[in-house]
Amino acid sequence: MIINPFKINTQKYNVLEKLKDYKWHCTKCDLEAAQAATFRDMKKEGVIFDSDKNGNEYKKINCLCGKQRVHRKLKE
Ligand SMILES: [Zn+2]
Repeated sequence: MIINPFKINTQKYNVLEKLKDYKWHCTKCDLEAAQAATFRDMKKEGVIFDSDKNGNEYKKINCLCGKQRVHRKLKE
């Protein structure tokens, strides 16, 4: 179980709570449209994101919203 180090009800807190299922989530639809800086800050707190096959710490895949978007997932 991951301990959420962020202040409750902040964007970072909510994003991490969503990612706790270790699935890919659309940053736009599922993760409050969080920006790269948010994920950078989360990394500073020790959050580790999974990578795509090119080593990016995100994956561009088709979303249920019908667009190809950046998705994030925690590293297992
Ligand atoms: Zn989406």
